[in-house]
Amino acid sequence: MEGTLRNGSRPRNDGGTKADNGVPPKVGEGGPLPSANIPLAGRQSNQTKSMADMVRETPNPEGPQAFVPENIQSMGYATTSNKIPAIYFSGAEIQKLATSLGHAIVGKFSHSIPASHQIQKALDNIKFCRGFSWRYINAKHIFVQFEDITDYARFLSGPKGTPIWYIDRHPMRVFKWSPDFDAYCESPIAAIWCNLIGLPIHLFDQSALFAIGKLLGTPIQVDRATANKTRLSFARICVEIDISKPPPEEIILDICGRETVQQVRWDKIPSYCRDCKHVGHKSDVCYAAGKTDRPPKRNYSVIPSKQSHRGAGENQGEQAPQKQPQYGERRSTSTNVEPR
Ligand SMILES: [Zn+2]
Repeated sequence: MEGTLRNGSRPRNDGGTKADNGVPPKVGEGGPLPSANIPLAGRQSNQTKSMADMVRETPNPEGPQAFVPENIQSMGYATTSNKIPAIYFSGAEIQKLATSLGHAIVGKFSHSIPASHQIQKALDNIKFCRGFSWRYINAKHIFVQFEDITDYARFLSGPKGTPIWYIDRHPMRVFKWSPDFDAYCESPIAAIWCNLIGLPIHLFDQSALFAIGKLLGTPIQVDRATANKTRLSFARICVEIDISKPPPEEIILDICGRETVQQVRWDKIPSYCRDCKHVGHKSDVCYAAGKTDRPPKRNYSVIPSKQSHRGAGENQGEQAPQKQPQYGERRSTSTNVEPR
């Protein structure tokens, strides 16, 4: 992750702009091909700078970014699949790439997506402890990265323990981002708080609580009263769990060979539909699977502003994508389908 998350936003530039000063003439980025009498880098002698060298010496934060061989790590395995060029990435490689994105969450708007200044203002109002940055992914999703895992957990848990934030009147549901993020399938991984009632007092310890939390999922944090041991009747832990299956309601504490049953009381766990892979309803009431009638369309009177809001935030100038990007035809019948 980049160091300055809050300032991580940069204007998009896909090339084609004029080369900045300092770039030797006629080898500018995106410009016309060099004419025949201008030697290309590959044809030059060793004493002459290569084109890559020249590009490297004249960094242009607005322009395209050249591949720098020294910074390239060998990755992937080139192969073919059905005679089509294919590249295989291992699990370890994918994990490394994903880790570089840090604590990341996807926000999903089921209906209309607000303009960037609205989103920025709403996120600023949450008053996270440390930095964060966000971007549009497409016409329904935003991608939010946090420097701090506590901010991440707070955002993922949602206000009042429900993973839905409201930006103006637009509900935005939040999901843990993972490498298998799919715009059409919602992640079943949610951060849920649970209470361990009557937990032995000596287990109110960060390491012990983390070990217990790992039995349940991926432990994220404990509440302040647990950390400070100011409320000894129960310990409260926030754990990432897979809500597509029922979490453990009890665990065994084996303390020096003496086993006791420890109850685990979960806060409200959102329903997850395994049929359409969406959070918010169970499979037996899934209208996408034809099990119930489709609810009426909601009507939002607030339309995201199309005017530019310079100075409104780090993502100034970037407007909400209004069109569904062409990232596949998998829901070709979605024109009149109420998204969920
Ligand atoms: Zn469903």
